[in-house]
Amino acid sequence: MRTPFVVGNWKLNKTIAESLTLVTELKNQLSAVKGIQICVAPTFVSLPAVAKRLEGSNIGTCSQDCFWETSGAWTGEVSGPMLVDAGATWAIVGHSERRQFFGDTSESVGKKARAALAAGLGAIVCVGESLAERDGGRTLAVVDDQLAGGLSGMDGTIVARLVIAYEPVWAIGTGRTATPGQAQEVHAHIRKRLHERFGATLADTIRIQYGGSVKSSNAEALIAEPDIDGALVGGASLEAADFIAIVKAARGT
Ligand code: PEP
Repeated sequence: MRTPFVVGNWKLNKTIAESLTLVTELKNQLSAVKGIQICVAPTFVSLPAVAKRLEGSNIGTCSQDCFWETSGAWTGEVSGPMLVDAGATWAIVGHSERRQFFGDTSESVGKKARAALAAGLGAIVCVGESLAERDGGRTLAVVDDQLAGGLSGMDGTIVARLVIAYEPVWAIGTGRTATPGQAQEVHAHIRKRLHERFGATLADTIRIQYGGSVKSSNAEALIAEPDIDGALVGGASLEAADFIAIVKAARGT
């Protein structure tokens, strides 16, 4: 039995004050919700204030990326130990926007995932195909390549802190969601690869989130699929009411 895990990825949105307003409402309204793991991923700038506000709550703080080195001459980057120091407990790595606009590759995502885990963070490794790749029948091959890179160098000891997020690029921010059947097909394939990589017992404990235009109206049907264990939510995590409704829908399954 895997505990569903819902993460709100705020991307490049919200000042520190706006972040605190949102997270205070989430903290108040979700305090009684049980049976589900919840995280928010603010910008690096808002992260320390958000983590502090969430202390003692059932909501964790996640970063949107994690650099692979711990310190040094790497202008603009933030490392795993720094994220832990700021109050993060999870890190998203390999988000498709990082792959598309900032040059992340299967190899660099693997380095980032290992660095996050080495720092003591949980790592959410994102994978997913573009529309052209899906139309070209290459979805599973693309996911395989991203998964192989993202999981390289990992062993079974980190499995408890590893989450995979399947996010078809054509569904991110487009309002076009994968059907539960389409998503389940890829999730089952990822689960099969995790079995091959870590053995069935460990692999069956790894959560695989779906991401791509998740809303309260589709969350329950997606998460009802056997291999969909939660959601990585972008746009709908920016409004308290929307995110709360998704968390409650996900918990309802
Ligand atoms: C995301 O960016 O991870 C995402 C899934 O965005 P959205 O929910 O807006 O499609």
